[in-house]
Parts: sequence; structure tokens; C-alpha cells
Amino acid sequence: MSKNYARVIHWFRRDLRLTDNTALHAASQAAGEVVPVYVVSSWKGLHAWTGPARQEFLAGCLDSLEKNIATAGGRLIFRRGGAVEELERLIRETGAEAIFYNKDPDPFGQKVEADLEARGRALGVEVRGFKDVVLHERDEVLTGAAKPYRVFTPYRRNWESLPKPPVLPAVTHLVSTVDHLPSEPCPSSATWGLPASGCILPEAGERAARQRMKQALSHVIPHYAETRNTPLGSTTSRLSPDLRMGTLSVRELYHRVVALMAETDHAAIRKSCQTYVSELAWREFYMQLLWHFPEVLEHEFDAQWRGLPWNYDDEALQRWKDGLTGFPIVDAGMRELRETGQMHNRVRMITAMFLTKDLRIDWRLGEQYFMQSLIDGEIASNNGGWQWSAGTGADAAPYFRIQNPWSQTKSYDPKGDYIRRWVPELKNAPTAMLLEPPASGSLFKPNREYPEPMVNHAGERERTLEFFKRHRAAR
Ligand SMILES: Cc1cc2nc3c(=O)[nH]c(=O)nc-3n(C[C@H](O)[C@H](O)[C@H](O)COP(=O)(O)OP(=O)(O)OC[C@H]3O[C@@H](n4cnc5c(N)ncnc54)[C@H](O)[C@@H]3O)c2cc1C
Repeated sequence: MSKNYARVIHWFRRDLRLTDNTALHAASQAAGEVVPVYVVSSWKGLHAWTGPARQEFLAGCLDSLEKNIATAGGRLIFRRGGAVEELERLIRETGAEAIFYNKDPDPFGQKVEADLEARGRALGVEVRGFKDVVLHERDEVLTGAAKPYRVFTPYRRNWESLPKPPVLPAVTHLVSTVDHLPSEPCPSSATWGLPASGCILPEAGERAARQRMKQALSHVIPHYAETRNTPLGSTTSRLSPDLRMGTLSVRELYHRVVALMAETDHAAIRKSCQTYVSELAWREFYMQLLWHFPEVLEHEFDAQWRGLPWNYDDEALQRWKDGLTGFPIVDAGMRELRETGQMHNRVRMITAMFLTKDLRIDWRLGEQYFMQSLIDGEIASNNGGWQWSAGTGADAAPYFRIQNPWSQTKSYDPKGDYIRRWVPELKNAPTAMLLEPPASGSLFKPNREYPEPMVNHAGERERTLEFFKRHRAAR
């Protein structure tokens, strides 16, 4: 096959894999030689949107990528600093004729892309961005009036009806003749000046991600419709960190789930596969919202709720973060997050609603803490989840739908197994005490170490309804 370029740079970002990687595959087809590079961000210390667990997981993914690239005959170059400056330097060092990359769905990444394209034009180097992180991007799924969707269900119907891009072969052979190029060492969390997270993290990298996908396809996704709301155990696929880092391609995951659906006669398995695919559509729904309405990072999506007088009680916020609210299901979720960098979706909703509806603390503070803590921390889905929980988002749960943490426990953790797993003080507490608020006047003390509920849910529910109604009336 004839090659259009002698040398192309592939700029790795959130696509840390060799299999079914759109830009990398295109670069390997178009160029005699591909120079793979990852530019490590240069911030140090505390970061409002990132924390040690995700950086540790990222570092593990990069370490694995570096080895996979070496096995394919290439060499991953690490640079540290601003992406545009470092890529420009690499162009000069290598004489590459083009830079290929997969596009980022968030506004920060897009800004860098725009700057890089401008720089490329000035240098006479081609800069090509590819769709890879999503099955359908920004303007592919629009209403009949060519407007972005604000509500999920019609978006999903349209999204599902569109043909999906096929899976691409893995890049197994890379040529490298620029072995002299300087490279930083593969980063660790210390590179960003972060302490060790202390979290028990899943194995990082493409091979581990593919194993998780296979496990999910055989053991989880066939039963997903029944199990997905149960917070303990292998009830969901746990693939979000892999989708976040791009150690797994969403195309391949989608096509494998659709194939599983096609090859079964079991209605329950088909339903589970359909439910799973619709979760992948949620991910893209939130990404298209952020594409079209980047202001959601600042404001409530639903304009009527902008300016709500949220609470900024530091002590209450800290009790929520520490898992010491006295609401066992909330505390279990917050401790799972702190110990693993992960949290089940049902419990994310419960903990987020507790912060915004029981404590009326500004959802942006919870959004930030989740971004700092989650290894799958993803700006669009996180913002969407928080705005949904606060009742301020697109397709929002109306403000008056306020989940009761006790009833949620009865529905989704009726035996208290999840709570006991993450809150050791409650290990021997009778189940009934985990499912009901303490009777008026009595003390809720399964043992002395565990606090009483910090608020009365029923009372806070009424105050929250008033809070929203008053704001609306004053407009
Ligand atoms: C307050 C809040 C914050 C959230 N923050 C994030 C975040 O930072 N990053 C993130 O990836 N997800 C986030 N979610 C969505 C969801 O909780 C996670 O995607 C899910 O828990 C990941 O676990 P899983 O891979 O086992 O999911 P599964 O149930 O197996 O679902 C498969 C995939 O579908 C996607 N998905 C599932 N549910 C959702 C959803 N509600 N919204 C968007 N995509 C979804 C994910 O990519 C997920 O990996 C958030 C939800 C809430 C309520």
C-alpha cells in the first residue's frame, strides 16, 4: 500500500490502546513511520478536577501502553508541558509531516486542539483529529429541527437508529527510526506531586481492560437488566475507567454487546443487552450536552434554577466526604469511593442527592470532589449526573423528586450487605437499623463509633421543596 507520509506523529490522549484506535490506525496506514507521543500535563500539587487515584490509574495505563508499543516495535515518547509547544518541538525534531490524534469531547481538550491546528497551519504541518471516544459525536444526533437534544429518550432513539462505525484492526507493527529522541520517564503520581492514593485500584492497561470486557460480556451483561441496581458484587460492567482512559474502544464494546444480543434466543439476555447499550447512549448524551452547552460546567443547565442560594457549610461537606453522615448507605458509598476510586451508579445518585437535597450544598462542590476522587472521572458524565441529582439538569429529575436514602436502602441493599462491606462499624448492626431512620427521640447507636444521622430526612425534604419553590416564585 502506498503511504502518503514518511513520518506522522500520533498524539495519545484518552485513547491509550493499540486495538481499534481510529487515529493510530489511520496514521499506521498513511505513514511509513509513526512517532507515538504522550504529553504529560505539567501542573503540580492539588488540582480542582483531578486527584491521586485517577493519576495513579492513568500512570498504570501509560506504563502498559509503553510496553505494548515496544512489543510492536515502536517507542512511546513522553514529554512534559503544554501540548502545543511540546508537539511543535517534536515536529521540529522529527521532521514529521502530520500529527494525528483522537478528538477530546471536553471544552478544555478542544481548546488545545484548536490551538494545535492553528500552529500546524503556521508550520505547514497537517493536523488531523478523528472521532474515536464516541460512536456519534456532536452534530450527528440532532432533532428534526437540527437542534441538540435536551431530553434523553428521543436522543437515545435517534442514536440507536444510526449506523455505527466498524471496529478497526489492532496496530501490531510500528517502525521507529528516531530512537535518539529525548523522552521523560513514564509518569507516576509523584510526577504531579501527588501523594499515593492508598486506593485498591483495578489493574491498569489494555490487556486488563480487555479481560474485564470479556468477563463482563460473559458474566455481567447477560443479566444486567436485573442486577445493575445492586451496589455490591459484579452487577455492572465496571468498564467506565477503561472507557475513560481509552484502554477499551467504545465501538468494540458496543459491537460485542450487539453480537451477544443477536446470538441469543433468551428474551432476558436481549433485554439486558439493550439496557446496556442505552447506558452507552447516556454517556454520549452527556457528551453532546457538554459539546453544545459548555456553560453547564458553570451554571445549572435549567436556567430557572440559576442563582439558587445553595449552602456552603464546610463541616457538613466534610462529613459527607468522610462518610460520617450517619446515613449508612451514603457513608458506605463515600467510603467505597475513598478506598477504591469507584462507586456504583445507584449509590452515586443516592450520595449526590443527599448532598444536594438533604444538605442543600452546592452541587458544584460534590461534582468537584467526585472529579478528584473517581478513577473514571469524566467531565461530561459527572456534570450530567450531578445536575440530574440536583434537579437542575437536562432531562432532570424534577426538583420535587427527592430520593429517600432509607427507602433506597430497602430497595437496593435490603440485607445491608453493601453497607456492611464498607462501614465496618456497622458490621454487626441488625439489618432493621440500617433500613429505617431512628424512631423519634431514640438514639441510633448500633455502636459508639458510628454517628447519628446528621439531619432528619423528612424535615430536610420539606425544606428543600420550599427552597426550590421560593426561588421560582422570586424570579
Ligand atoms: C453523580 C454522578 C456522577 C457520575 N460521574 C461519572 C463520571 O465521572 N464518569 C463516568 O464514566 N460516569 C459517571 N457517572 C455515571 C455512572 O455512574 C458510571 O458511568 C457507572 O457507575 C460506571 O460503572 P460501570 O462501568 O460498571 O457502568 P455500567 O452500568 O456497566 O454501564 C456501562 C457504561 O455505560 C456508561 N454509563 C452507565 N451509566 C451512565 C450514566 N448514568 N451516565 C453516563 N454514562 C453512563 C459508562 O460508560 C459505563 O461504563 C456518574 C453518575 C452520577 C449519578
